[in-house]
Amino acid sequence: MTQQINWKETLADGGQKAYIAEVKKRDALVGSFLEFDPPRGKMARPQAEVQTTEELAGIPFAIKDNIALRNFKLTCGSKMLAHFVSPYSATAVEKILAAGGIPVGKTNMDEFGMGSSTDTSALGTTSNPWDLTKVAGGSSGGSAAAVAAGLVPFALGTDTGGSVRQPANFCGVYGLKPTYGAVSRYGLVAYASSLETIGVVAREIPYLEKVFNTIRDQDEKDNTTADWRDFSDPKEGEVTKIGVLTGSLGLDPGVAEAYAQVRQELLALGYEIVEMQLPMLDYAVPAYYTIATAEASANLARFNGIRYGHRPVYSENPEELVQKSRDEGFGAEVKLRILLGTYVLRSGFQDQFYLRAQKIRTALVRDFDKVFSQVDGFLLPVFPTQAFSHGDGGLDPFQQKVADKFTTTANLTGLPALAIPTGVSGGLPTGVQFMAPAFCEDRLFGLARRLKSNLTLGEPPEFPALYAGQEGRS
Ligand code: GLN
Repeated sequence: MTQQINWKETLADGGQKAYIAEVKKRDALVGSFLEFDPPRGKMARPQAEVQTTEELAGIPFAIKDNIALRNFKLTCGSKMLAHFVSPYSATAVEKILAAGGIPVGKTNMDEFGMGSSTDTSALGTTSNPWDLTKVAGGSSGGSAAAVAAGLVPFALGTDTGGSVRQPANFCGVYGLKPTYGAVSRYGLVAYASSLETIGVVAREIPYLEKVFNTIRDQDEKDNTTADWRDFSDPKEGEVTKIGVLTGSLGLDPGVAEAYAQVRQELLALGYEIVEMQLPMLDYAVPAYYTIATAEASANLARFNGIRYGHRPVYSENPEELVQKSRDEGFGAEVKLRILLGTYVLRSGFQDQFYLRAQKIRTALVRDFDKVFSQVDGFLLPVFPTQAFSHGDGGLDPFQQKVADKFTTTANLTGLPALAIPTGVSGGLPTGVQFMAPAFCEDRLFGLARRLKSNLTLGEPPEFPALYAGQEGRS
């Protein structure tokens, strides 16, 4: 058992200068932050009436740039919002502030959360701390890279189709996508409202748990939230039977090997393994992209240069202003999705696309009802590949979408899921994903804890823990 970093010291008056210098040095390579300003972060105070605690007192953390932090920019990685400063903080952020956490900055992301590499950001490039020629994953790539490079012990991200779990998996850290409704979305710039949740990226399980317990709550400002106390785990976390997704999963060799190894570990730990298949799995991606783009086309309508967003220097009339604003403000991937979303929703065609996707969604929920009537937890891959290269050597946008098949199941069903780092193959992290019934996040933490003693992951070679002699992983 190695010592944990004393993160409180990093922002204490004596340590702050050294911390800032070290983060800047590291982040010049990784590019995880869009805005980094610990002194300003220290001045952030909870505004709303929240109960203050000292749970996370003095601990630095980072926030994905589609989650509001008062007096910091809120760009969503887009030219459209490049200069927008948030007048308020998200509920999840307020709760961490009330627990004493100190926000040090905002992290890079795929534009409006649309992507799996963070390369669709219009405002910067983020690289994987394990290999700078590789992507950090996305869309919460900045948050995952910041945690993996040891710049902060945890960061907030958002997961609409895998955007917390996949970058966490690429960077060798934990990534939690909570149950839909467990964490308030107030202050999160919406991409696909029925699918997305705010989630947590962390290098150590205790932080993951502490932060999740801090931010989960019913919120009157988001009426899709529920009180977790109403949903106690019928098993009280007693997990003995694990379903394992089997069949031809199309995994790269390094990923397949890690997956098989975890299965072995589970057996060795005494879990009963039940091989399972998800009949609707092949339909998850088409359903996800139909629903996500439909919701995005409506949610992004507000960015038109009048209500919000980039305003062109000159236009003849309001129509031209809106057209120029959106043409200049949005990147190619966002435009593609708005068009797709508008297409699937156009009148007379809803039955063919949107309603069909909703039916698939319901059928997938039934698949999982069946799964969890037989087992206590469910093991599946996160992504078919390890971190891929920037640019042409990597996955093209279509391949990236197809590869979302494992992660999107949790968003379509609303179930909680946790990406767990398990090792390194070919110099890059590998990992797996567990899912659990709604509001049973504790089972996921329990599984992570049991596996951890057997499957260990080191530090990225160039980014050892911030303080010499202390390691980030307990
Ligand atoms: N790769 C998915 C997409 O591009 C994930 C997005 C997300 O979770 N924000 O839509």
